[in-house]
Formats: sequence, structure tokens, C-alpha cells
Amino acid sequence: MKTEPSDEGASSARTVHFVSLGCAKNQVDTEVMLGVSAAEQYRWVPNPEEADVIVVNTCGFIGPAKQESIDAIVEMAEHRSEGRCEKLVVAGCLSQRYSDDLAKELPEVDHFIGSSDMLKLGPILKSPTPRLNVGNPAHYTMSASDPRLRAGNNFSAYLKLAEGCNRTCSFCAIPSMRGKQRSRSVEDLVQEAKRLVAEGVLELNLISQDTIAYGRDLPGEKRTDLAELLRALGEVQGLRWIRVHYLYPEKLQPQLVALFRDHPKVLPYIDMPLQHVADGVLRSMRRGHGGDRIYRTVEHLREQLEEMIFRTTLIVGHPGESEQDFQELLKFTQWAQFDHLGVFQYSPEEGTRSMDLLAQNVAPAVPQEVIEQRQQELMELQRDISAASMGSRVGQTLEVLVEGTSEESDLLLDGRWWGQAQDVDGKVILTNGMPDLGSFQRATVTHATDYDLIADLERTESGERAANRISLPTIP
Ligand code: SF4
Repeated sequence: MKTEPSDEGASSARTVHFVSLGCAKNQVDTEVMLGVSAAEQYRWVPNPEEADVIVVNTCGFIGPAKQESIDAIVEMAEHRSEGRCEKLVVAGCLSQRYSDDLAKELPEVDHFIGSSDMLKLGPILKSPTPRLNVGNPAHYTMSASDPRLRAGNNFSAYLKLAEGCNRTCSFCAIPSMRGKQRSRSVEDLVQEAKRLVAEGVLELNLISQDTIAYGRDLPGEKRTDLAELLRALGEVQGLRWIRVHYLYPEKLQPQLVALFRDHPKVLPYIDMPLQHVADGVLRSMRRGHGGDRIYRTVEHLREQLEEMIFRTTLIVGHPGESEQDFQELLKFTQWAQFDHLGVFQYSPEEGTRSMDLLAQNVAPAVPQEVIEQRQQELMELQRDISAASMGSRVGQTLEVLVEGTSEESDLLLDGRWWGQAQDVDGKVILTNGMPDLGSFQRATVTHATDYDLIADLERTESGERAANRISLPTIP
């Protein structure tokens, strides 16, 4: 169900405000907590100063994300000490990982729950409960019966396929915060998908830590795979786009490749975090494969999926990364011509093997200024690649999902064509006409920037443009 600020029972209802940080999986967790609070008759408010309860859903992935979470807690704590707020709750991965330390350092916080404790918010809202209440992530897997109140976009939603991860990438602390992989059943996911479509969702974004491994952890007859899930979701009436995120770089099974190529709803949009390409770095990252596998995987997908849009992420500055390794990464990025690329700086995380490599002087640390230089150099190369890719679409007619008023101007609308994922990729700015939000429109690209497209809506038979316009309340 979609959350909207409502005045219904405004005066009597207790109010709650959420700060949602981190990844799309964390956003879904926030939406579950939104659902829990609504079930307890709490009304969601956009401004923290109007809230009786404030929940900060934190991220604990890497240094900058952790700092952002702590800053948000400190900011919300002011409302607890000086404002209307009577209860400050900290949830999510940072709490899962550091609740004991945070509890000592942040006395203003009333409750700490973990990355899988969303349903514990109910008892917290109702009655006194222990301050530290962080559970074992392995004890919870989201299900379609959990209350979920979606925030943000009406027409596009995340569908969380599983919790946790079974891999052991040496730079990553996620398994220690989210536990081992726990997939949801196909039936449970189809049930939630049907409910989302009934709410007006046209695009489903499939997310988990390790989506290609979906279903492998399910026992006995329940064991399944991503291809089977995609076929089942493809049967959901009313769904237009199915987008798959976070594919670990493995050789995709032929039946999976066929779904990306031939299925009318499964977008040939490959989101595959590759992280690096140099053999030595991949080995110390414990990615389980070398650079050759990466080249062959990208090549194979390009051969099989003519229309493919490729998104990836790369990490620079991993312990032991040499200048030669980085030059290999630059050469690979030039060769691969990714459509979308995110470049992360390596962040030393306690409890990870990479951190041990540093502590035991097994691999030398890359100086911070060198890490920043490498990130910038790679992003500059990618900006040129993206600009060329965007430029090559001028003159093309694309099907665009119209999403809302443009940030550029109230007279423009923003949308996305299937090659652009929400929240992470660029957009299509529609210049002439105000078609219904949530409609698919054909539009011809007239201009391109480094990351966005500008397009003209196609004339309808009657020659005039669809002119009505509805305003959409934005949820922060
Ligand atoms: S696949 Fe690797 S990087 Fe991704 S969540 Fe699992 S351990 Fe972390």
C-alpha cells in the first residue's frame, strides 16, 4: 500500500517519522516498518519536528555510509532532547553491527533493533521494551504477509527476493550484518507482486544481495532458481517491466539468458557488480574468479543480448592494488563500454579479510589520495563513454514510463526508458506535453547530456498532445 500524508484523525493519531538510509533493500525494510507503524495507528509525517516517534534505519556498509547514519541519528536526537519526539529508534545494519558501542555513545536513543527486526517496532510503539533488542538476522525472512507501506514512486517498486549472502568477498561486511542467504519462495514473491501491481505498480525491481543465487538455499522440493521465478512473475497481469539487480558475475544459464533476450517483460538490463578485473586484486577480494572470466562473461552477454544495457560497479584502492592493476581496470572499462557505472572507494571494514590483509601487512594499503585520483580518473573515462552512449540515442524513438514533474522545471516531466533504472541511472526529460503519470509514451530523443536524454512526445493520431496534468505528492 502507498503512504500519503493524511489529515484523517490528524489531531488524535500519534505520529512517526522515518529516515531511510543505504540501499534499496534497506528501503524495503523501512517500508515494512512504515506498515507496522500504520497497523499501530501511527500516522506518518514528513517532518521530524511533528513526530512523536522517530525511526532512523541505518546503513553500515562502508565508512561514508556509516558516518551518514551517525550524523542522521545525532540530528534526530535533537528532536528527542529538545522537541516533541518521545521515542528515538535506531534500526538497520549499523545498529546490527555496533549497537553496544552506539548505546554507550548515544544516550538519547531509546531503542536499538537490528537489520532483520522490523516487526519489533510494533511492540516498541505499544509498550515499554528493552533498549537493546538486536536479534539474529537468520531468524527473519520477509514475507508477503508483512505489512508494507511503500514510499516514493507510484509506478515502480522493489521486490526483495532474499535476505543475506553466502559469499565471502573479503572487502564486504554485509554477511556479518545480514546473515546467510535466505530466499523467499516463488509463491510468496508472486503473491507480493500481485499486490504491488494492484496498487498501480508497472515496474518490479528484483533485489537481494546475490540475486543469481536466488532459490539455491531453499530446501528439498522448494529449491528453485531465478529463471523459474522470472517465468512466474512474468505471468502477473498488469506488470510491464521486470528488472533484475545485483547479479554476481557467474556464467548465466542458457534458460536465464533466453528470458533476458526473449521474455516481453524481463528487461535485458544486466546489473552485475564486477568490482575489478585484475587477477591479483580479484584473488585478494576472494571473488572466486579471475579477469578472464569477467571478459568472457561480458563478451558472452553482448553476443547473446543484442539490446543489452549493462550496469556495473567497480572498487578502486583495494589493499594491494598496484598502478598496473588500475591501468588494467581503465583498459577494461574502455573495452567494456558500460552503459552505467558506479565507482566505489575501498573502505577498510572491521571483521573483513581485507582489513586483516592490511593489519598483517600482507597487502599494502593504497594511499587515500591515490584512491581518490583513481576513482576520479575512472569516473571521467566513464562520463565520456556515457555521453557517447547517450548521444547515440538522439533521433531514436523510445517507450518512456512517465513518472513525475521534472526537477529541472514544473513545465517538464521526468520519465525513464527501460534502459534506465530508478534511483541509480539517468532519466528522460519530456519537453512537450503533459501525459498521465504512470503512462507509457513513445518519445523521440532530441538531445542528450552525459547521463540524461531530452525527448519529444510523439504526436497522437489527432495530432495534439495529451494535455492533462496531475500533481504527485513527493515523499522525502
Ligand atoms: S556477493 Fe560479496 S559483495 Fe555482495 S553482499 Fe555478498 S559478500 Fe558482499
